[in-house]
Amino acid sequence: MDSAPSPRNHSESGMQVCVRIIFKGSRFLRNATLLRCPVCGTQPLFVSLNRVKSLYDWSTPLDGCSKCGFPYDREVGYFLFAVWSFSYLSSVLIGFAVYLALSVFTGWGFNGKLSFTIGVMFFTGVLFLRHAKAYFIALDHFLDPHEKSAP
Ligand SMILES: [Zn+2]
Repeated sequence: MDSAPSPRNHSESGMQVCVRIIFKGSRFLRNATLLRCPVCGTQPLFVSLNRVKSLYDWSTPLDGCSKCGFPYDREVGYFLFAVWSFSYLSSVLIGFAVYLALSVFTGWGFNGKLSFTIGVMFFTGVLFLRHAKAYFIALDHFLDPHEKSAP
């Protein structure tokens, strides 16, 4: 009796695929946390802190990786979702937590609590901007790998 070979005999098993995806995702997550290229993990996504002179320098990624050539900014408006989802959402969640903590642990009035909370939200929004973009680049490359086109 002749049986046709299963396609699984020539490819990875389901477990191997899962392990490979988990390793790949954790590598992308680690590189994004370290603000490094999601592909090679060696080159920075942004200019170094000692060269930041403006909010633009702080928030704008470099054009691409100098080692592997991976482009960080694919198109105009690419980071709009990243800013609104990751950065804005984290700022709002932290703002709620700060406002609740101030309400519970201080006797501040409404205007004081609101002013302090807005200040914290603005600060955390700017602070998380780089990581929001880095996580977005990593997530986008994980879900939709961007391969260099052949010359
Ligand atoms: Zn790279």
